[in-house]
Parts: sequence; C-alpha cells; structure tokens
Amino acid sequence: MNLLEQELDYPFGAQMPDSGSTLEVAPGVRWIRMALPFALDHINLWLLADEIDGVAGWTVVDCCISREEAKAQWEAIFAHELQGRPILRVLVTHMHPDHIGLAHWLCERWKAPLWISATDYYAARLGSQSTTGFGGPDSADFFVAHGLSDEGKLAEIRGRTSYYPSMVPAVPRRFHRLMDGATVRIGAHDWQCISGYGHAPEHMALYSPAQGLLLGGDMMLPRISTNVSVFDQEPESNPLQLFLDSIDRFQALPADTLTLPSHGKPFRGLHTRIRQLHEHHRDRLAEVLVACQAQPCSGADILPIMFKRPLDAHQTTFALGEAVAHLHALWFKGQLQRRRDADGVYRFQATVA
Ligand SMILES: [Zn+2]
Repeated sequence: MNLLEQELDYPFGAQMPDSGSTLEVAPGVRWIRMALPFALDHINLWLLADEIDGVAGWTVVDCCISREEAKAQWEAIFAHELQGRPILRVLVTHMHPDHIGLAHWLCERWKAPLWISATDYYAARLGSQSTTGFGGPDSADFFVAHGLSDEGKLAEIRGRTSYYPSMVPAVPRRFHRLMDGATVRIGAHDWQCISGYGHAPEHMALYSPAQGLLLGGDMMLPRISTNVSVFDQEPESNPLQLFLDSIDRFQALPADTLTLPSHGKPFRGLHTRIRQLHEHHRDRLAEVLVACQAQPCSGADILPIMFKRPLDAHQTTFALGEAVAHLHALWFKGQLQRRRDADGVYRFQATVA
C-alpha cells in the first residue's frame, strides 16, 4: 500500500476473488477479477443480480479483452457462479479493450443486449475495424510532432496497425444507449448514469443511491491515476481539464460511498481520492510549468520529468499522450504558448518567466 492509499479504506482488506470465481461485495453485487497481459495486470468486472421481463438473471459490467484465458475464466463463472441464471444484459463503461473486448462474445452467447454510451459504441465499432491512436502512421506522425525521435519506438508504433482489433475483434451490431442523468433499473435497484470525460470519449459510471455503491469504471481508481492522453485523432484536445472537471461531479455523492473501481480494490474515501487526484495533477502541472519556464519544451522533453523510469514503445505512447495532456492544460489556461519549430516539433514556453 502506498502512502496515499493509507488515507483510503479497503473494507475487504487483502481479500480478492479467485480466478473463475466471484466475491460478493454487497447484496446481489459480485466482484470478478481477470488477468491482463499488460503492466496493468488485471481488471475488475461485476455481476449485478437483475430481473428483466420477469426473468431473473445477471447484468455483467465490463468484459475483459478478447483472449482464450478470459473466455475460460468466464466459462468457469458461467458454470459455478450464476446460480443457474442467465446473463441478461452486458453493460460497458467505455470503449477501451479491457472493458469491451469480449462484449460481442458475451452478447452473442447469451443473446443479451449491449448497454453503452453512444460515443463509445461508435468509437469501438470504428476501432475494431482499424487502429485507434495506439499505433499506425497517423499516431507515429503525432508523436513525431511532439518530439519523439527514437526510430526504434517510432517503427514499432508505425507497424502497430491492428492493435485495437487484436483485443476487440468485433462489437455487437446493436446497442442500448446510456446517457448522463439516465436511470437504469438493475434488479431491485436504480443506478444513475454519470458521464465522465478525458479518459474515454464518453465514459459512464453508475451510482446506486440505495446501496451507496459507485461503479467507477476507470474514472475513479484508488491506486493508480487514470490515463489522460491527447491522441492523434483529436490533437488539440484538453483531456486533463475534462478529467478533473468530471471527477468533481463525484463530490456530490456521499462520503461513505463504496467505490467499485475497474482496477485495484473496492474502497471508501471517495472525497479523499478526488482531492488526491487533483493534488497529483496539480504537482505534475507545476513541474511541467517550471520546465517550460527554463526553456521551450516538447512533449518528449517533458517525459523524463513526469516519468522517472525507462519506457518501452507501448508505455511511451501512453506517457507521451499524458505529457501532451499536461502541456495542453497549461496552454489552454494561457500559462504556456505553443509554437511549431522548423523541425516540425511543437514546443511550449511559459508566458510568464
Ligand atoms: Zn479505460
């Protein structure tokens, strides 16, 4: 546990569901944990007791990436954890591969509908047919414009043209739209949709007032900070400001809300975590501003300031996207100005020394 985590309460301690099984975290709410083959090595998925048209069953929240290990784990859950009831609905918080990868497989297998925000649905449909900002020539050009010059990493990024489809080979052909402010009835409880921005196009968290539960998705994580990146498709975006504004919306929820995050463990201390995340980004922004006061900096120049460890090509795409997000937040505020130099690289300089 790091120092910041010590300010949070993990009501289940070190308890976690075993592979292929579930752990009840509230009546009718079960926690599933699946392995991921990345540095971020797991994702949490949830089973909510449901009843639709008089049929008792389950709503699944998020799916894991498409791969045999995850399907096998789902099979074990179908066999032992559903109490003989079907999956009635597949609800996805956002379009990232670890969340939507197996939605097509789950929906097809159970003849269940997909519930997701419209923006993320279309982004996933498009992404499953081509690359999406994590690779390919457009992505490499974007990183070059932000100062990445390592030819090996650029070649790897350029060559990665089917990264998203490799984890999300298909997306269901139809969906039910989740919208901010809408209420979804799941079994005995109402869940309110809370949209969030800056991490995915239109992320949906769900809050159950009666149970005091927040399905936070990737917008409210206890241990790591959510990735907030500028991508090549939207090169002049300000995702960090969107993210910070979005997490402030959770401030209205009760302090003792139990947050069920997509990574890490269920926790209490929602308001504390909102403050910690603001402080984290405030400190990063201050470091970036100091660097840009000393000399004009590209995104690549900011990398070693924000990330004090070696990064491989995959990590570089995330890290550089984050570095540009911090530069843009300061640029949009007027604290930095941007220029494009003769070498084609964007550099940012403090407007006040
Ligand atoms: Zn995500």
